[in-house]
Amino acid sequence: ITPTEQAVLDEIEEKGVDFLRLQFTDILGVVKNVAVPARQAEKAFTEGIYFDGSSIEGFVRIQESDMRLVPDPDTFAILPWRQSGESASARMICDVYNTSTGDPFEGDPRYILKQAIDRAQDLGYSINAAPEPEFFLFEEDEEGGATTETNDAGGYFDLAPKDLASDVRRDIIYGLENMGFEVEASHHEVAEGQHEINFEYDDALTTADNVGTFRTVVRAIAAQHGYHATFMPKPIPRINGSGMHTHISLFTEDGENAFHDGDDEFNLSSTAKSFLAGVLEHAPAITAIANPIVNSYKRLVPGYEAPVYVAWSDRNRSALIRKPAARVPAASRIELRSPDPSCNPYLALAVMIHAGLDGIENDLEAPDPVRENIYEFDGKKREEYGIETLPTNLGEAVDALEADDVIYDALGEHVGPKFVEAKRQEFQEYLVDVSEWELDRYLETF
Ligand code: GLN
Ligand code: MG
Ligand code: MG
Ligand code: MG
Repeated sequence: ITPTEQAVLDEIEEKGVDFLRLQFTDILGVVKNVAVPARQAEKAFTEGIYFDGSSIEGFVRIQESDMRLVPDPDTFAILPWRQSGESASARMICDVYNTSTGDPFEGDPRYILKQAIDRAQDLGYSINAAPEPEFFLFEEDEEGGATTETNDAGGYFDLAPKDLASDVRRDIIYGLENMGFEVEASHHEVAEGQHEINFEYDDALTTADNVGTFRTVVRAIAAQHGYHATFMPKPIPRINGSGMHTHISLFTEDGENAFHDGDDEFNLSSTAKSFLAGVLEHAPAITAIANPIVNSYKRLVPGYEAPVYVAWSDRNRSALIRKPAARVPAASRIELRSPDPSCNPYLALAVMIHAGLDGIENDLEAPDPVRENIYEFDGKKREEYGIETLPTNLGEAVDALEADDVIYDALGEHVGPKFVEAKRQEFQEYLVDVSEWELDRYLETF
């Protein structure tokens, strides 16, 4: 038992925690729970908790279905919406081990991210990341099901009384703070019923853990208010969808921001530019992971502040990567604007990191930034500027993933093939379906 583990055991005692939820995520990024009585905490730390993984989506091959969960004591948190009187529930995020070999399980997304972090470490870097998840709050119907009725008609940075959801958002923020989040800002987003809450950057692993927690807290607290929170990227056509812009920077062992260069026009070091070039180079394959559902591609269309073209900019928001203004050297970073909040945050960060490190290792050079609104470019102008387009649907994205050795290999032998198989099937189901739009358009015309 380490001191951190002991501190967790003490807190369990003190706060009267009776149940522990041991969490991990499947390949699709869905948070899974195994609940154990809190008195098993010590055993969980020393031996792990065994569970049958065969029923978890894409998690294991049938023949190796026994898994062991080992909780990470740094992730201990009391669940604020489960406190009643004297008792409380808490969660810890776990690493998954293979019981037959004792090794980390290759299909654990958290492990895939740890490997990316290790690769950065080998090059002398640690990684900071900050996501900006957006989501919609919708009314529930009489049976408690989700609708797409927005609960307000606010717009970007609107204040009450239009922003009726600000009460919900305030409670969500309290919930997040109770779970240890440092919330930096929250605002109503561009679309009706759409919100964004920003929390402080952290190391890449903590940030990925935080995204999972964030989604859980937002849904739980919205539900307490009778709203359905959704991270579906484009629930309503023809208005803005929900993104999860992701800011990233590398730090050296002596705590310097490796992305900063005060002498550069953009305050970006050559390391940052090579990293950026790597992300641009691997952008099509990254898209499959960062935009993993059929609906993700309804968001990646021109005109709604979501990226479509593979370019970077220090000025405008139509590019895939933006260089945000930084007030201090430590804040020099790049913002990847394609990810959406339906992604698996562990895998998404892992592929971004591998792509960027690949750029650094191969000394890739960044193209010039594009300062015009790329949405307005025609095909000829894009060609002239050498600007590629992101995959336009999940099928194309999965093809790009399979064709990109760097990104596909980064997912490991388990996650890569399982992910591709699941996504091909999902896309195929979509292709054979006949949509409402088709019926409206054709049923009476033909
Ligand atoms: N909702 C936009 C997107 O889909 C982003 C809007 C913003 O944050 N400026 O990425
Ligand atoms: Mg923002
Ligand atoms: Mg936003
Ligand atoms: Mg942003």
